[in-house]
Amino acid sequence: MAQIELKKLRKSFGAIEVIKGIDLEIQKGEFMVFVGPSGCGKSTLLRLICGLESISGGELLFDGQRMNNVIPSKRGIAMVFQSYALYPHMTVYKNMSFGMKLAKATSAEMDERVRKAAEMLQIEHLLDRLPRQLSGGQRQRVAIGRAIVRDPRVFLFDEPLSNLDAALRVATRLEIARLHHEMDNVTMVYVTHDQVEAMTLADRICVLRDGRVEQVGTPSELYEKPANLFVAGFIGSPK
Ligand code: ADP
Ligand code: MG
Repeated sequence: MAQIELKKLRKSFGAIEVIKGIDLEIQKGEFMVFVGPSGCGKSTLLRLICGLESISGGELLFDGQRMNNVIPSKRGIAMVFQSYALYPHMTVYKNMSFGMKLAKATSAEMDERVRKAAEMLQIEHLLDRLPRQLSGGQRQRVAIGRAIVRDPRVFLFDEPLSNLDAALRVATRLEIARLHHEMDNVTMVYVTHDQVEAMTLADRICVLRDGRVEQVGTPSELYEKPANLFVAGFIGSPK
């Protein structure tokens, strides 16, 4: 059974439909990348999956269970945004642990999880700092660390590298690939408009255009057999 199933999923804002009936299955442990031009609905799709937007039509299932009306905190998902979204007045440690009490972790368990995530990301020495005392790359690591602490079944990333400079972008991309490898069976769903990120990170790529799926496949399938010129243009193969 697929871990995440989208069945004819739709989303409208007022009279404007932006997700126009998406059917897709994402397997447990898979690294699925959504690509597509600005405005095609990538962020909206992630927000539907994590519950930050309400679904207008169709179904969203996790492990066969209907999620349409389940609140975000009960979905077992952690989202990492482009803009980090850290609390400016809280230390790195607080940012990573905030809200965990609600999740009923004891403080010793929580402390252990924060330290383990910080170690994985090599930010142990930054735990007492405030976000403004960090570089962009360090802030994004904290945002990823905060997601890891929550021990989610699925990680969602919305263009997590786009505020970083070129060198940091490569380093952070490799870091995310390493985390996926190290965290056995964790599912990652990753949005980008960058072909290189998509081709290097993905087990499968889903190409979106104007709220619909154009093609889904492995990077080599899309590269070698693009369904149409749009996909070919996007993936960068000479069809
Ligand atoms: P992408 O992430 O691929 O750039 P988005 O999912 O952010 O695209 O947006 C898809 C479309 O939905 C855009 O036309 C955008 O203007 C519209 N949209 C997104 N969020 C809202 C909202 N809260 N209200 C109205 N329109 C929205
Ligand atoms: Mg977006």
